[in-house]
Amino acid sequence: MMVATATLLPSGEALKVQSFRLFFVVIAMALATNAQSPLVSAHIAPLTPQQRTAMTGKSWNPGCPVPLDDLVSIRVTYYGFDSKTHLGTIVLHKRFATEAAQIFAELYAAHFPINKIDPWENYGPRVYAEQDITVGFYCERADDAPTEWSSHSYGVAIDLNPRENPFRDVKKGWWPPTSAVFAPRDNGKGKISPSSGAFRIFTRHGWGWGGFFAGEPDLMHFTKLTFGPPANPADRPYVINGLTYIPGTAFESAQPK
Ligand SMILES: [Zn+2]
Repeated sequence: MMVATATLLPSGEALKVQSFRLFFVVIAMALATNAQSPLVSAHIAPLTPQQRTAMTGKSWNPGCPVPLDDLVSIRVTYYGFDSKTHLGTIVLHKRFATEAAQIFAELYAAHFPINKIDPWENYGPRVYAEQDITVGFYCERADDAPTEWSSHSYGVAIDLNPRENPFRDVKKGWWPPTSAVFAPRDNGKGKISPSSGAFRIFTRHGWGWGGFFAGEPDLMHFTKLTFGPPANPADRPYVINGLTYIPGTAFESAQPK
């Protein structure tokens, strides 16, 4: 005989059953989320005196918009172009360090290949891209607005596999210069496109992709999206999470030629 639960139990008992069911659903969702997003251990630490010395005068100077105390060093595991496991260091703003560690854990779990992760100051401008180094923080003016700081200057941006994912300068063409051959978006190793695992992982955490910048796509670039009054994007009150890509709109018009 089929009877509704509420008719069999006093109302208090029915409530307990419902609470238990709700609890079970929450646990199941947590397990499902964990199954998709395994978090491998990442070591997040303040910058060491050695790192501060190495950065000063290179990736950072006293005129930069964030102090060194706001930046952290994240030791991450990544899946190399050689299909082996590697360790690398990326410097980012402390507010988004745990989220970035989670992103790199998911990239590793998805076997998204990364050539090398290493701090920018070990290479410098241009060289880091030519040598295909994935970096986070470096203090520079924005390419498209020389009076403003780039999002890297706040530690809220990552350049991922810059050779496979070049930047298109309207005047000078693809950058780094040897990377034009990599510009077409296909399923090549380490490339980012809306169909790539890297794109899905970053956008799920609310990091926008520079590949959508019309006219000047910056294919290597992801930025954590925040909104609100302070100039420093890491201090803004509104933090975006869970972006969804709707095909057939912006990307097609910005598709690299
Ligand atoms: Zn960038």
